[in-house]
Amino acid sequence: MTFATIKLPAASVGNEAHIHLHRFGSKGGKKVYIQAGLHADEYPGPLGAQHLLRHLQQLDQQGAINAEILLVPFANPVGLRQRSFGHVIGRCDWHTGQNFNRNMAINADQVMTSLIGSFGDDLLENDQLMRTGLKNLVSQRSDDFEINSLHKILLAHSIDAHYVLDLHCDDVALPHVFLWCTPTTDG
Ligand SMILES: [Zn+2]
Repeated sequence: MTFATIKLPAASVGNEAHIHLHRFGSKGGKKVYIQAGLHADEYPGPLGAQHLLRHLQQLDQQGAINAEILLVPFANPVGLRQRSFGHVIGRCDWHTGQNFNRNMAINADQVMTSLIGSFGDDLLENDQLMRTGLKNLVSQRSDDFEINSLHKILLAHSIDAHYVLDLHCDDVALPHVFLWCTPTTDG
């Protein structure tokens, strides 16, 4: 297991935010990325991630993890900073007004335009080309606002994962999962 602290560019002098990243397992096989609290006022996700962290640490000590697992229990330190009269607001960036859970997607047309001529008959090679291409597109994203830097860092660690869990919650919703499946080379 490794632990990394990633610094976001400061939005104002002396006011830096950090993302804490826990990494288990090794690269080369399946990659799993889990983040919680992108809406910083949604506490069940970070709470669950803290419990998961303890279990992953135990499994890691037992040598029982056979994939690369990245865990970000507090994905939005910018939103967590929005404390007002004892409450964390944490849903929209106060500088741009943008919802923290919007405008993260990579444009599909941009993906196809940049990669379409690269694919061949080798599925494994195509798979790697796609993941590398997506990472390259993330690296080209603007980071001129703190929210853009936040999104860029989160995407840089998640865009090439085989499984991504982005934990949210609501007080008026049934439990549900938005699932996007991509074919894998080994079924
Ligand atoms: Zn949410």
